[in-house]
Amino acid sequence: MTEDFRSQKTEITVIVRPVSVFLVVDVQNDFISGTLNISQCAAQQNGLDVVEPINRLLDTVEFDAVFYSLDWHPSDHVSFIDNLPYRKVHESSPIKAEDAKTYDTVIFEGPPQMKQRLWPRHCVQDSWGAELHKDLKVVEGAIKICKGTNPEVDSYSVFWDNKKLTRTTLNDELRAKNATDIYVCGLAYDVCVGASALDALTIGYRTVLIDDCSRGVDLNDIEKTKQTVMTNSGVIVNSNQVKAMVEGRDRRAELGYKLAIEIRKREEDAATNEPPPLPGQQVESCNA
Ligand SMILES: [Zn+2]
Repeated sequence: MTEDFRSQKTEITVIVRPVSVFLVVDVQNDFISGTLNISQCAAQQNGLDVVEPINRLLDTVEFDAVFYSLDWHPSDHVSFIDNLPYRKVHESSPIKAEDAKTYDTVIFEGPPQMKQRLWPRHCVQDSWGAELHKDLKVVEGAIKICKGTNPEVDSYSVFWDNKKLTRTTLNDELRAKNATDIYVCGLAYDVCVGASALDALTIGYRTVLIDDCSRGVDLNDIEKTKQTVMTNSGVIVNSNQVKAMVEGRDRRAELGYKLAIEIRKREEDAATNEPPPLPGQQVESCNA
């Protein structure tokens, strides 16, 4: 079998039978009506708006797997502004500890030294605020992924913490299912949804961000998120377009292009050696 024929075969398999996964990010009480209610953030969007279109997708689209992520912090988490006195702010931090307000970004001394946005205390493990919203459908067989369980580092992406010290089980689960396409949405658009979509693209998944199933914090950052996703061969769609895409009736040129890039990369990896291992040796477990 020639190289060309082999790559065509991979391409045909993915196009004929993509394995489509739905990733619902952080649709938790605290982001909707609790301590980090995003309607009080700059964009003033209502997190509850995502529940109905997400439920409709769960009812009408046959995804191969469904994942729900949960921000799942210990009480002493680095992102909580009320924990600021317990860690040293680095002298290079543009905002000093004594001046820091909620939503400001400081630089912690660490190690590792890191930038951190300061959020209100939110999504504390086993609290009401960390529960998925009661109206969100949780389908049978779905898998929950917890993130942000390490007190010392924040976690926006559902794949890794912000320093890539720890990974969640998401990528292992996706690999086990031979997932090719990821449909991602939820809260908050420009924070955890965006970071997860970008990591999915970097790993090599064909990635679709569902616009009307996501709400965010800051309009400029939401726009930047969309641009970055599209620049990296991801696709932004509305929920009414998803069913036709999952069923293969609506085929996007961008996703075909993304697939071609990934097949080329795999061939190069195979020619040189194995692909580099994914970072994050420690695995975050989930007891939500
Ligand atoms: Zn958090």
